[in-house]
Amino acid sequence: MLGAAVDRVLADTLRDVAARITEGRVADYIPELADADPGAFGVSIASVLGRAYGAGDADAPFTIQSASKPFVYAFACEELGAATVHERVGVEPSGEPFNAISLDERGRPENPFINAGAIVTTSLVPADDADERYRRIRDVLSRFAGRELDLDDEVYRSEAKTGHRNRALAGLALAAGSLATGDVDAATDPYFRQCALRVTTADLAIMGATLANGGMNPITRDRVVGERAARDTLSVMATCGMYDRSGAWAFRVGMPAKSGVGGGIVAVRPGEFGVGVYAPPLDEAGNSARGVAMLEALSDRFGLHMFDHV
Ligand code: GLN
Repeated sequence: MLGAAVDRVLADTLRDVAARITEGRVADYIPELADADPGAFGVSIASVLGRAYGAGDADAPFTIQSASKPFVYAFACEELGAATVHERVGVEPSGEPFNAISLDERGRPENPFINAGAIVTTSLVPADDADERYRRIRDVLSRFAGRELDLDDEVYRSEAKTGHRNRALAGLALAAGSLATGDVDAATDPYFRQCALRVTTADLAIMGATLANGGMNPITRDRVVGERAARDTLSVMATCGMYDRSGAWAFRVGMPAKSGVGGGIVAVRPGEFGVGVYAPPLDEAGNSARGVAMLEALSDRFGLHMFDHV
């Protein structure tokens, strides 16, 4: 009964947003992303009680891209402790685009969600080589989602072939002493593969719900990370999740979140639920234009802003 009502509200909101938001451009830095259906639009919600809701293209697959970054960060914090992680990467919003070439005054990328910081975070995942590092990342992202995620091989190959800027960022971090691997490829190759893992909005919602639930997947009951790592991750999502639109996002939507250039966004209502949205056309900051509008509409309608009712 409630499930059907929530699904209906989600479907109505999708329709309103689709009619209102027509701008945005599908990412085209590799051909595989440029092929995405610009009209695809889906949403899912997963609660910490294990309930799931959805509408539109909720089960359409897309590559997770930068929405992988919070989950790898959570894993690195769980494995090493946040203090060790933050010797190499900061926690300040950069106010710059996701692929900016800059380090802070200590030689660290500003935060783990811009590309430079995410590559450093990936380099921190303990492993003997690039393959093992990727396998560990895929395993932990799969545990967050509660199912085995698979790789979009063509996206991975294309990213690897064209990812010169990301390799340059890794090289810069290596030179500054913040990359944890001794060479660039040991970090960038698993990073390219983590970005090319395929998810649906239903997966993103459960991954977000796992963070909302203090690190325990509410469906599988698997404790993926501890409560502190989940809290640290949500803190960084709240301040740095939407690149150089993180301030506007905090103001307008008020939920910890992370976007990816594949068109996905994961957002979290701590203690309550995770939301996944998918719409490929991006705004000029690289965030899904309809995804942002959808989450703003849901936040307004249901009072989901973190400072509502305080
Ligand atoms: N794979 C993309 C890159 O590294 C991810 C960036 C993003 O989603 N913003 O450039």
